[in-house]
Amino acid sequence: MKKTKKILLVEPDYKSLYPPLGLMKISTWHKRQGDAVDFVRGKGLNNRKYDKVYITTLFTYFAEEVIETINFYKNFYPSSELKVGGIFATLMPEYIKKQTGIAPHIGLLKLVENCIPDYSLFPTLKYSLTFTTRGCLRNCEYCAVKTHEPNFLLKENWENDIDLSKSRIVFWDNNWFFSPNFSKDIEKLKKINKPFDFNQGLDARLFTVEKARLLSSLRINPLRFSFDSVRDDGYVQRAIKTAQEFGIDDIRVYVLYNFKDSPEDFYYRINELNKLGALSYPMRYRPIDAIDKHYIDVNWNKESLRALKLILTFYYSKGMIRKNRAAFLKIFGTSPKRVRERFFDIYMRDKEKSKARKKETVFDMRNLNWEEAEMIAV
Ligand code: SF4
Repeated sequence: MKKTKKILLVEPDYKSLYPPLGLMKISTWHKRQGDAVDFVRGKGLNNRKYDKVYITTLFTYFAEEVIETINFYKNFYPSSELKVGGIFATLMPEYIKKQTGIAPHIGLLKLVENCIPDYSLFPTLKYSLTFTTRGCLRNCEYCAVKTHEPNFLLKENWENDIDLSKSRIVFWDNNWFFSPNFSKDIEKLKKINKPFDFNQGLDARLFTVEKARLLSSLRINPLRFSFDSVRDDGYVQRAIKTAQEFGIDDIRVYVLYNFKDSPEDFYYRINELNKLGALSYPMRYRPIDAIDKHYIDVNWNKESLRALKLILTFYYSKGMIRKNRAAFLKIFGTSPKRVRERFFDIYMRDKEKSKARKKETVFDMRNLNWEEAEMIAV
């Protein structure tokens, strides 16, 4: 008789909005073999012994947490087989090997790729998670997809991943519009009839009137694009206007900054989006194959990056620049020419406030009344 194995799945204790899909699939695979599976975040321990410990990884800037976690489990379960995988592991396998002695798995784990995620690990999760495609046919310089999902693959039966008891579906496709199954997927979404979100963003350059018509007849919410470079100027605005003509209102746009751009260029892009009534979701660039959390690109400086972080954290919520046009102009100004000055002002004010309130390390713009906030922004 086959011996039941004991499996431990570990997600290091870093900040993540979403559950670890890879581990959820590994869980299903092992449970199908009759194995017993436990999941833990960080260094949670119990008295059990495990045959195999899987540790997932995410962004490179969580390197410290990941390395600490791997070394912890390596020492705590010296006789268990330790498997490390995920995005950081794929981008920097040599670094992980050097720091821990463990050679990680690179890329997708094909064995479990078609397993349904084990939702029982996260009973309070309100959505199903899946992909219709992997990889992307574009090759953007700043993007890690070309390394961790180098081939564009179709997932034919993604609907098997959907748990109908959950209220919505989150797709993690990198570029769904390249999929030859697009029309088939639309039909499936019609049948499933649940709200859904392609939360990595859709490609504005491939957005057409026909796609807007099809998506507006379904329950896509929100609709996401990205405006990562001024090279996309025009495409993004046109896609937003087209979507709006079909009644899609909740449009959110990722805006990369700190990568071959400047505060003025960043201002231009968020201002374009704000004028159109779309929400901007600024995303700070960090090198994809280095662990440098504090990378500063040549046209940015620490003051501007800090000020932007303060604005996003304390003036807006959930890191998004919201629609209110008057608030936008008050914070960022009416012209890109003064945006650096404004950032510097905010940075200095924060510094002074932090000094004044010795116990507080972060200046909280929420504590200000409107006039005070305006003074800082102007
Ligand atoms: S289009 Fe998006 S997913 Fe594709 S390579 Fe560029 S940034 Fe990455």
